Amino acid sequence: MSTSRSIAVHYDSDYERHDTGAGHPESILRYRTLCAALEQRPEEIARFISQRRATMQELQYVHHASYVDLVYRDCETFADALRTGDTAICEESYDVALRATGAALDACDAVMSGTHQAIFSATRPPGHHGTANQGMGFCIFNHVAIAARYLQEKHGLKRIAIIDWDVHHGNGTEAIFLEDADVFYASLHEDHIYPFTGSVNTKGIGAGLGTTLNLPLPHASDGAIALEQWDKHLTPALEAFAPEFILLSAGFDARIDDPIGGLRWDDETFAQMTRRSRAIADRFARGRIVSILEGGYNPQGLACAALAHLRALL
Ligand SMILES: [Zn+2]
Repeated sequence: MSTSRSIAVHYDSDYERHDTGAGHPESILRYRTLCAALEQRPEEIARFISQRRATMQELQYVHHASYVDLVYRDCETFADALRTGDTAICEESYDVALRATGAALDACDAVMSGTHQAIFSATRPPGHHGTANQGMGFCIFNHVAIAARYLQEKHGLKRIAIIDWDVHHGNGTEAIFLEDADVFYASLHEDHIYPFTGSVNTKGIGAGLGTTLNLPLPHASDGAIALEQWDKHLTPALEAFAPEFILLSAGFDARIDDPIGGLRWDDETFAQMTRRSRAIADRFARGRIVSILEGGYNPQGLACAALAHLRALL
């Protein structure tokens, strides 16, 4: 069964048009180093091409029209950063962010149609800190959240699981689905760092109670501790939820030697998490996974961990 999996990866130098300025961790160099590594991937992993931009209607599955308009105007007027928070932008950023979301949606279409079983959409800017009306934490549009709604609206799926292993808590994704019983959001992240959300006590609200799972991890802890938490809490929760599709917020800033993250995961940790996600996808979701790049700020470390992730999808 594993030999018949068709896996693809999306990357494109066009995402380098999002220029965050000198010295910014979410840099063009970071992305260029990643893309060079992805060129060296195993030959059975196809390259997935996407040119499309998310539409206004698709953005509004998650974001307020006024926020989309604010991003457009901030970029058009050459602002250095979004007015809503700590996200560096340039004139091209609006269009690049539309492409990153569009690629995630294209990937969902390709996986739903059976062209590929899993796709890693390696795009920038990242998305998981983006809320309905606020860009922050280097994020503009929340690709993974829009993809979840798209799978429900366009493909008629009901239960979507989002697994977020970026070192930072995905406050935007959590907030968007906090009251939603049909989108399960799980995050493994370093405790007590930006954005200072993601308490273990946040479990959802109202109908969504029980479909948010936060697993904050102590500073400097290694991958074994994260995998132990995964097996103890996340696996049973996913088995109970029985997702029809798995979306990954694949950040690689929990890797050892990341300049921003303070965890000490190795490449094998990312491979193990990928395999565990696959096992759930194979059991409940016909193997369907779309993985979307979030953080990862040591360029070489990001490249190694992302390749380990991609290989483990095979
Ligand atoms: Zn991060």
